[in-house]
Amino acid sequence: MYSERKGKGAGIVMKRYTRVFAEIDLDAVVFNMESMRRNLAPETGLVGVVKADGYGHGSVPVARAIASYVEAYAVATAEEALLLRRHGIGKPVLILGPVHKSHYGSLVEQGIRPVIFTMEQARELSEEAVRQERRADFHLAVDTGMSRIGLDADENGARLAMEICSLPGIRAEGIFTHFARADEEDKSWSDAQLARFLGFVELLEERGLRIPVKHCANSAAIIDMPKTGMNWARAGISLYGMYPSGEVAKEAVPLRPVMSLKSFVTYVKEISPGRQVSYGGTFVAEEPTRVATVPVGYGDGYPRNLSGCGYVLIHGQKAPILGRVCMDQLMADVSRIPDVGTGTEVTLIGRDGPSEIRVEDLAEWGGGFHYEIVCDIGKRVPRVYLRGNEAVGAKDYFEDVYPEF
Ligand SMILES: *Cc1c(COP(=O)(O)O)cnc(C)c1O
Repeated sequence: MYSERKGKGAGIVMKRYTRVFAEIDLDAVVFNMESMRRNLAPETGLVGVVKADGYGHGSVPVARAIASYVEAYAVATAEEALLLRRHGIGKPVLILGPVHKSHYGSLVEQGIRPVIFTMEQARELSEEAVRQERRADFHLAVDTGMSRIGLDADENGARLAMEICSLPGIRAEGIFTHFARADEEDKSWSDAQLARFLGFVELLEERGLRIPVKHCANSAAIIDMPKTGMNWARAGISLYGMYPSGEVAKEAVPLRPVMSLKSFVTYVKEISPGRQVSYGGTFVAEEPTRVATVPVGYGDGYPRNLSGCGYVLIHGQKAPILGRVCMDQLMADVSRIPDVGTGTEVTLIGRDGPSEIRVEDLAEWGGGFHYEIVCDIGKRVPRVYLRGNEAVGAKDYFEDVYPEF
């Protein structure tokens, strides 16, 4: 509880959060970066993927925490890139998806790298660069199997790339592709994508175009195909301490979970057999049951599909979720857990004594997706940043403070 944890830097006493909060362990973030670093060739630089507000963890504090480990950052939108710049992050920032041309002005001004793969995008960027008398660096996206963005990895694609790169004021700093199935045990699809990518790079080099930065690896490839690291490797989910899937070789890159989700019991009561719990009466007590109300619901991003399945931790023990998860509250069975009352800590994600709930567990119980669960933790949930188990900052929808970094 943050009444007891003081941020030392600016002498700011962290606000006490009494309903629900997420703890973001910045030491774990650094541990995960070092772990990936060890699996990659020394010449491969890491790119910190902090899109979707750092997969729900907070892009700015995460970006700062990993600053000394990365060559660059990657985001999904122009706004996300500009946010990093506004917070003083000066390293290269790459936007992984196409952005509207109306953003090109500010991107060129701030040295943010858009992806380019059509002549129209390239012309717009070139015109803006010429107008500003600046060089605009971009990354060329190549489609090798995602069918999402990128130019085709063939002769036509190569001709287009040459034409794009001949425009004034712009330079292909990088060329990249994205694996669709690197998190699967069978790497044949990824091997084929890799071959297509390398073949395309060769086509360009035959034409005299050498692009300095080549990159294709995501977390799954960093773990299972470190040889695909090339110049840059884009670390997303693993940065946040999760494996992309259960099929990757976890032992190659040990990861520590980063996000915990904590709350406090607001009410405890005993219900008699026959009583129903929550909307729809999907749970009916068969015996006298002690029910704890926890002030967390799908309005906080806690998945509603965990209704009637899964559990939270109280005093290190499992308290099964009873009935439907509401928007702002849920009920848990504490019949077998002594000493639970108003104010007792509840762990929805993270470690509590001998027990631990991982985001992946939530995904498994409810048939959800771990990437999505963390992204969906809502803005009503403040994020508290920990270093050496001490709160050093908070991202709060109502009040952001980063006294230490
Ligand atoms: C999101 C994304 C990544 C990161 O993927 P992870 O599986 O989270 O590591 C890398 N590259 C691109 C193009 C992406 O869109």
